[in-house]
Amino acid sequence: MKHKHIFNKIIQLILKDIAKENGYSPQKVIQDFASGSMEFVVEFWQKIYAIYGEQYNDVYRCPGCKKFELDFVEHNGSIADFLEDEKH
Ligand SMILES: [Zn+2]
Repeated sequence: MKHKHIFNKIIQLILKDIAKENGYSPQKVIQDFASGSMEFVVEFWQKIYAIYGEQYNDVYRCPGCKKFELDFVEHNGSIADFLEDEKH
């Protein structure tokens, strides 16, 4: 079955921005993020939150298409709370 993964493009753009801001190559940041690195997770969610608010709180990479996708998972809780906790 073919998936759409409508958020893949914006997620890639956000990761490229983060790479630029931190002086890394986009490939490195995208690769690290895809393999579960927590290094840029806070920055990533700050940017997602700025665009979508609380609509999404989960990101994954489709194993079949190797594309990123956003999701909302009830038990993940609020992104605003997560970002607030990260400040302290
Ligand atoms: Zn897919």
